[in-house]
Amino acid sequence: AAGIDLARVRADFPILRREVNGRPLIYLDSAASAQRPQAVIDAELDCYRRYYANVHRGVHTLSQESTAAFEGAREQVRRFLNAASEREVVFVRGATEAINLVAHSFAAPRLQPGDEVLVTHMEHHSNIVPWQLACERTGAQLRVVPVTDDGEIELDAVAARINERTRLISVVHVSNTLGTVNPVAEIAALARERGVPILVDGAQAAPHLPVDVQALGVDFYAFSGHKAYGPSGIGALYGRYEHLAAMAPYQGGGDMIRRVAFEGTEYAEPPARFEAGTPNIAGAIGLGEALRYLEGLGRERLAAHERALVGYAAEALAAVPGVELIGTPQRRAGAVSFVMAGTHPNDVAMLLDEQGIAVRAGHHCTQPLMERFGVSATARASFGCYNGTDEVDALIEALHRIRRLFGA
Ligand code: PMP
Repeated sequence: AAGIDLARVRADFPILRREVNGRPLIYLDSAASAQRPQAVIDAELDCYRRYYANVHRGVHTLSQESTAAFEGAREQVRRFLNAASEREVVFVRGATEAINLVAHSFAAPRLQPGDEVLVTHMEHHSNIVPWQLACERTGAQLRVVPVTDDGEIELDAVAARINERTRLISVVHVSNTLGTVNPVAEIAALARERGVPILVDGAQAAPHLPVDVQALGVDFYAFSGHKAYGPSGIGALYGRYEHLAAMAPYQGGGDMIRRVAFEGTEYAEPPARFEAGTPNIAGAIGLGEALRYLEGLGRERLAAHERALVGYAAEALAAVPGVELIGTPQRRAGAVSFVMAGTHPNDVAMLLDEQGIAVRAGHHCTQPLMERFGVSATARASFGCYNGTDEVDALIEALHRIRRLFGA
């Protein structure tokens, strides 16, 4: 099969035409937030220009058109995740809100003192803190699956930490810091055997890998629009319908009720039950368009392109004298973290920016993982559909210049 036509993909992203510090922009920060293709920008603009109105229950034409586009985006998300029904797709602000929703409305009511929630040592803070809050409220405990020196999660290590007190497992599909692709289908199978529900944080997986929530066998799956070439402030939570139907609301307000009376209120069916208030209408429509764009590129084809690219980058980075990769997982997607002897990651990122190359430096909202690897920060190069080996070569060349600057 033909590969990705990079020139065409790049032409779809207007921001890539700009320069930074007099150099053509090389954007290697898609793990923090990807850029948007013109089609996504147009979809949002078109909504505001032509048919925007509040959604649901409106009799007038614009409201009907907005509702159709908004619900069409929900169907697009359903298809993107291969959920069984669009009733299993809840629009949220992003992965963070999705996880908080599950922690609040699914986990917390089931947690008793002494119960356990299982996460891994490579979670993003947004897949740690909501569980800590739920545990604090209920007297439950957070347990942690260790990460190997290679930056991987071993199935045996997961199995060893599931017991009769485990009420939920929450694990990241692809690490935003290490790029590790975790064996979530196998972890989900373990969880199912023991009767433990599982949430997967797909913030970094959805943009890079084909995702099939039914094949993975997960109970919940969370992702953010802005990392998947869509708008910020919108994302989706997939939840198995029987779970959603048994959950109390997360927030109260308009649009999430069937009938309100001071004697008591009846809640709407999912997903409306979890979508209190006016949603990010144009954002959802933009997200639908972004997912359509990814489908158009071919998700298998894109995954293959990116797998080759991130492998090329990891190998080239490791070959730079003084550069050390943090994590060397067998399966990697999206990102490579590294440190450079004698330099701080912030300085590396600043000097790269001077050369028009955008990478991120810091703890990447994974402080426990930083501690695990004995660093306070890393520099991270992350990749998207528009990146190619030419840009990795430019990064490597720039790192050599920085190395000479530091006399290394
Ligand atoms: N999980 C992972 C693995 C992430 O990389 C991120 C974003 N950096 C999040 C969750 C949170 O996503 P958001 O900030 O879009 O809610």
